[in-house]
Amino acid sequence: MTDRPRSAPMPAALRAGRPPRHPALAHRCPWCGAAENARCTTRSGRTRTVRLDPCPARLAAWATATAVCPTCQTAPGYPCHDNGIPLPDTSPVHNARYTEAEEPAA
Ligand SMILES: [Zn+2]
Ligand SMILES: [Zn+2]
Repeated sequence: MTDRPRSAPMPAALRAGRPPRHPALAHRCPWCGAAENARCTTRSGRTRTVRLDPCPARLAAWATATAVCPTCQTAPGYPCHDNGIPLPDTSPVHNARYTEAEEPAA
């Protein structure tokens, strides 16, 4: 018989580690074509490699679809802009929007 309490709280360090699955994976990847809930892949030559992290374009699409942008006040589903001018393809989403998407509004 073991009487040790089993309800010990999980160490915060464990929970704060890498999430097993990025929320962006719920969206199809516009870059590599990975389906919903599938991991992104990169093509190098003939081989397809599974990426650990979603493609940047997928993160951008996810942030755009889920969050209001704190920088340009754009509603979910609409792309970021700077005073009406679309952001460059290299960084199409304001950084603050990624943060906003990761922490859903309470
Ligand atoms: Zn991808
Ligand atoms: Zn923005």
